[in-house]
This record gives sequence, C-alpha cells and structure tokens, in this order.
Amino acid sequence: MVLAQLGGSISRALQQMSNATIIDEKVLNDCLNEITRALLQSDVQFKLVRDMQTNIKKIVNLDDLAAGHNKRKIIQQAVFNELCKILDPGKPAFTPKKGKTSVVMFVGLQGSGKTTTCTKYAYYHQKKGYKPALVCADTFRAGAFDQLKQNATKAKIPFYGSYTESDPVRIAVEGVERFKKENCDLIIVDTSGRHKQEAALFEEMRQVSEATKPDLVLFVMDSSIGQAAFDQAQAFKQSVPVGAVIVTKMDGHAKGGGALSAVAATKSPVIFIGTGEHMDEFEIFDVKPFVSRLLGMGDWSGFMDKIQEVVPMDQQPELLQKLSEGNFTLRIMYEQFQNILKMGPIGQVFSMLPGFSQELMPKGREKESQTKIKRYMTMMDSMTNEELDSTNPKLMNESRIIRIARGCGRPIRDVMEMLEEYKRLAKIWSKMKGLKIPKKGDMSAL
Ligand code: GDP
Repeated sequence: MVLAQLGGSISRALQQMSNATIIDEKVLNDCLNEITRALLQSDVQFKLVRDMQTNIKKIVNLDDLAAGHNKRKIIQQAVFNELCKILDPGKPAFTPKKGKTSVVMFVGLQGSGKTTTCTKYAYYHQKKGYKPALVCADTFRAGAFDQLKQNATKAKIPFYGSYTESDPVRIAVEGVERFKKENCDLIIVDTSGRHKQEAALFEEMRQVSEATKPDLVLFVMDSSIGQAAFDQAQAFKQSVPVGAVIVTKMDGHAKGGGALSAVAATKSPVIFIGTGEHMDEFEIFDVKPFVSRLLGMGDWSGFMDKIQEVVPMDQQPELLQKLSEGNFTLRIMYEQFQNILKMGPIGQVFSMLPGFSQELMPKGREKESQTKIKRYMTMMDSMTNEELDSTNPKLMNESRIIRIARGCGRPIRDVMEMLEEYKRLAKIWSKMKGLKIPKKGDMSAL
C-alpha cells in the first residue's frame, strides 16, 4: 500500500519524541523536521508541508502549556488535525440520490485509470441500489469505447457510445438524454484524456461539461503522479468545476503524497481510492481513519466495525471492558489472535489494531505472520489458567518457560519470543487504561 512508508516515518518521529524525557523546543523541532522530511519525500507539495509546520508550532506553544499537560498527546493531536485539514477541504462532495437523475463527469489524464474507475464507480453504486449508466464520450483514444463496453457488459450496466461519431459533445448529450428517458439515476460520462495537459483537452472537457451540466465533475488521478500533482489538479480545476477526486493505483508502490496535494489544489475531497485493476478493488475514502492509520494510531472506526462484524455480540462488551481496564493478559492476546485469524484478510485487520501493525505483521508478509500467530497460540495452549490470566510478567520464570517449551514441543527461544511479543503488546494496550473507546472518527481520546 502506498503511503505506508510515510506513515512509518511519521509514527517513528512521534515515537522518538515520546521517548524524550522532557519535551522542549528542540525535541518538538526535531520531530516536526522529521515529519516534514517524510512528507516531502512522499511528494506532498512543499508549500503545504511548510504551512503545516507553521500551524503546528502556532498551536503547540510549549511555553504556554502548563505543567501537567500531556505534551506528546497535544503534539500528536495537532499533527493529526493538520493532516486531516490538508485532506479535508471542509465541504462534502455531491452525493447522487437514488431515484433522482444525477450526471457525473469523469476527467483526468490518459492512463490515470479514468475508464476503469468509471465502471468501478457505477458498479459500486449499482450494488447500493442505484440504476447507473455509462456514456463513453472519449472519441480521442481508439479502443476507449470498446474498453468501456467490455467493462459495462461484465458489470451488467447499460452503456452508450459510438464507433463513428467523432464529436464528444454530441455523444455525451445523446447518452445523457437517452439514459434520462430510461430513468437511470446515475449517468456517468467518461471523457477523453491526453498524455499531458494541453489546450485541446481542456477545451473539449469544458464543452462537454457545458453541454451536459454535470452535478459532479470527478477528477481521476494516478497516485504515482508525484510532485506534479498539485499543478495538474489545479489546471483541471481551472477548466471544469472539479467537485471531488478519486486517486487510483493505491495498491502500487508509488509514494502517494500527491493525493494530499491534489485535495489542496482542487479544494475538493478524495471520495474513493482505487486499489487494484478489478471492479471491486475500490474503497470509500474517509479522512480520519486514513490519517490515524498513517500515524500508526490504529484505525478505531475500522477496528470497531470489525469487532462488531466478527466478535460474537455477547462477547463485545466484555472485550471493550477489558480494553479500557488496560490489563492485557496472555489470554486476551490469545483471544485477539483467534479473532484476527477469523477476521479474514489479515493485513487489513492488523493495520487497524493499535500496536499490532508494524512489528508483528510487516507489510507483504501476511502469510508468515499468520503462521507466527498460530505458533504463538500453540505455545499458549501449553500454559496454565493462572499463567494465561496473570498480568504479572515475573510469573513466567525459567522453569515455567522450560515446561511450556516441552509441552508444545518448541525451542525455549520461541517461547521467549512469544513472551516478548506479549510484553510489547501489553505495554501498548496499557496506554488504553481508563480511556473511552472513541466513537467513529473521534481521535481525541487517543
Ligand atoms: P484511462 O486512460 O485513464 O481511461 O485509464 P484506464 O482505465 O485505461 O487504466 C489504465 C491502466 O491502469 C489499466 O491497465 C488499468 O487496469 C489500470 N488501473 C486502473 N485503476 C487501477 C488501480 O486502482 N490499481 C491498479 N493496479 N491498476 C489500475
């Protein structure tokens, strides 16, 4: 996943700061410089990064903070808020309403994933009960209509286009009219792209937009666009009223920081991200969970959703209670492992759990992590109830470790490794003691 490296660098910078005994101006500056470097390396626009740094310094005035304030948390919250501010332009994008005709026009450079994304967007809404239709107004690229037709047929979505007509405005208008008559409530118009921004592309887009009067213009951007993102997005915004952004190829290895810049340039939110070539590799984009994951804070809303999905109803209050008590026993770790194995795509779930993400499950090594978890669980099967329910690490003395190793037929060093993992997690989870589990999107409790 792109931006993973950025997330890692930012959370390391925050971690280094929290390791410092006293948080003074120098520690704060070092931390902010680290974060700045990480954002610039990820292709976030320079001006955005500089503004962010200035704002954080304004908010976190160390001299004004009375003793007893948790400076680390205040700084972390300020970083969180500023990143959210970059990604959240403050006004929600237009959302189509079922049963009422909406026209959505897609724009973007050739190769950005525009045509693929049109179908993904249509398919997503079709599953939600909309009646979408696709219009191919891309007369520039040979094969564009065939591609759209093929995708639309696969998803059983009505489509309109022409092999002979060369006027994109005409096709767009005809398509929209036809589907209005057929009572489609979401008419999606795919427009031409070019290899680079050029006057002809913008003029054509402007004409199609004027003729079809879309309720929403969606700008599709490839996540690998890099530092050029800001200027590119701004150029599109100046020609057509871009209302939202979709960032594609977030499954690749691009740095992805351009996405943040595009939001700032268009003052429009990212509403979806593309995470693969297939029709359903398409996800709603939500700013707060995204940023909290980026900062290694764990995605609470996703985590809560998963808990509700997987942990049996009657066990949910107990688990939440245990979390807020902060007493992390080996038994809780065992139960979490059980849940994690049940919860399916292990990578997704891990990245949502505070503390579980980086060390226990390095990206791209999910299979190994799964094996490791199973191995840990086998070792825990050889433990007594007293050991599983204790919160005292000293209980696990040498003779007990030898007994467990014998019981499960694994080397002593494996048992020790598992206990180290337990201690690491217990330390993280102990920070949750007394905290209210935040409601969806609310990070203030962390
Ligand atoms: P267009 O020229 O902007 O219409 O781009 P296309 O829709 O033809 O996409 C260009 C290429 O990008 C195709 O090979 C798509 O399969 C691929 N593509 C589109 N979206 C994604 C995505 O989210 N992830 C990945 N890995 N590939 C994508």
